[in-house]
Amino acid sequence: MSTFLDLGLKEPINKALTDLGYEKPTVIQEKAIPQIISSTEDLKAFAQTGTGKTAAFSLPIIEQINSSDKNTQAIILSPTRELAVQIGNNIKEFSKYIPNLKVVTVYGGSNIEEQIRGLKRGAQIVVGTPGRTVDLINRRALKLGNVKWLVLDEADEMLNMGFKDELDKVLDATPETKQTLLFSATFPREVEAIARNYMTKPVEITSGEKNQGSDNVTHEYYVVNERTRYQALKRIADVNTDIYAIIFCRTRRETQEVANNLIKDGYSADALHGDLSQQQRDSVMGKFRKRTIQILVATDVAARGIDVTDLTHVINHKLPDQIENYNHRSGRTGRAGNKGISAVLVNNKEKGRLRAIERIIKKKFIATKVPTGKEICQNQLMHLIDKVKATEVNTEQISEFLPSIYEKLEDLTREELVQKFVSLEFNKFLSYYNKSDDLNDISNRDSSRGRSNDENMTRFFINLGRKDKLNPASLIGLINDQKIADKIEIGAIDILDTFSFFEIDKNFEKETLDAFGANDPDFNGRSVNIEITKSNRGGGGGRKSRGGGGFGGRRRNGGNDRGPRGGSRDSNRGDSRRRSDNRSSSPRRSSGDSNASAGFGRKRKRD
Ligand code: AMP
Repeated sequence: MSTFLDLGLKEPINKALTDLGYEKPTVIQEKAIPQIISSTEDLKAFAQTGTGKTAAFSLPIIEQINSSDKNTQAIILSPTRELAVQIGNNIKEFSKYIPNLKVVTVYGGSNIEEQIRGLKRGAQIVVGTPGRTVDLINRRALKLGNVKWLVLDEADEMLNMGFKDELDKVLDATPETKQTLLFSATFPREVEAIARNYMTKPVEITSGEKNQGSDNVTHEYYVVNERTRYQALKRIADVNTDIYAIIFCRTRRETQEVANNLIKDGYSADALHGDLSQQQRDSVMGKFRKRTIQILVATDVAARGIDVTDLTHVINHKLPDQIENYNHRSGRTGRAGNKGISAVLVNNKEKGRLRAIERIIKKKFIATKVPTGKEICQNQLMHLIDKVKATEVNTEQISEFLPSIYEKLEDLTREELVQKFVSLEFNKFLSYYNKSDDLNDISNRDSSRGRSNDENMTRFFINLGRKDKLNPASLIGLINDQKIADKIEIGAIDILDTFSFFEIDKNFEKETLDAFGANDPDFNGRSVNIEITKSNRGGGGGRKSRGGGGFGGRRRNGGNDRGPRGGSRDSNRGDSRRRSDNRSSSPRRSSGDSNASAGFGRKRKRD
């Protein structure tokens, strides 16, 4: 195995790499660095994210840059602002011991004047997104007449994002003599066309690690339906006590909706997508890097530049439209030698697409069951117990309080103490998952539509019916008006001619009776009476209502199906997962506004 010095890099670069903890070159670096240093031939490199491709093209360029010449000698194009910034920062780190080497990063959504000033001061290396780069060329602020190296990083993604015209313009603005280095994870027709039209007999290399990233990644799938998709997502998060994950969604709207729901349900989550301003994205990314946020919900494009090496999970809330993108997604985990899991939520129809993905990743998906409530509670409790056991006790600090604590607890046995302590931490969690559904029973769930079968619910009779102009929506309104509890689940509703039935979470049986009794409401001038019915199956065929805009099958008057963390201000779970700390400070609209992304924030430019 060669060293960076063996590959032809000089000592100042080697020193910077040592500072960064890069001990030996990756496969793509071993192949690309000597090739680019020793030859001016164009290069076509198959390289996925996580293989060390940034250093593979940056280091040989830094090696050869003439730092006493202030002209721009290398232009690196990347699809997203995040990726451009990351490349720019990497180059600064790689070249920190080389005097006078300057790199400027240019991207949309940020002050162009400042970028122009940076370019005027002189930058041998410019990293840019295609749109802003063309803008600066048109303003004559960026001159590419002396360029020796042109890098197209993630070329497939740039073309996916519709940057073909911009790429053409930049390629036209550079001299014919330059060396073009094209890095791409996939080589669809459009990328091959760029290679054909703009490159001369390129040398081809592959990372040789096509699956190396994925060797560290286990691919799992969970079968869900549209009613269980979100609940399954939460259960995966709940069963993995130290989850640090990106949840991928296909659209900005889906991304914002999932993030809103998770935040509302008490998860440490936030959204990253193109409707957010640059400042908001930076802030979300900063929090995710620092792990203030444990779950990032993102679109494919927004997540491109994320350089986080220790994700435990990538979760595909929905599969990407283009299956090639699955590789990009799953490649965000299992990096830098870590193990990772890429989980996919699919309904029966979507399941067929997994075969096509398996052919690309050359690995099999493992069919995995959505964790049951019992499994989740078991995992969470054991995690807590492990944490308790690992907690260091500073007897000096607490010794003065101990006698009175011992005195207060003296009438409790060891078992009672343990039980109370566990209950204090987990009552909400345990009761949420107590007798919770098995989400894997998709067929039963679907066939039970229209009939409630839920032993967690109590069925009430109400003396109002169709003749009183009662419908499911007005009944829900009536129930909500009684302010029975903060969050309460309403189940099946059967509206009959002169009376009706509705179901309420069993735990709120008494509160429901009390609230109706105390408020003594009327409905269209008619006094309202409710009673608990003996049987859980009333007449009328059990009209189980459905989710969405209509009358939802199971709903809570506070909004969505809240998780065990949801709204429970006192549910201190004893780990780092709490309600996202940006919840109150976030400028984003929150609960219940599932369309919060629409019209929110500054419309993102393409780059
Ligand atoms: P990239 O494929 O360029 O996005 O790099 C993926 C990750 O691997 C980044 O966090 C790099 O800092 C890191 N990395 C790249 N090359 C090396 C190396 N030779 N040794 C250790 N880490 C590396």
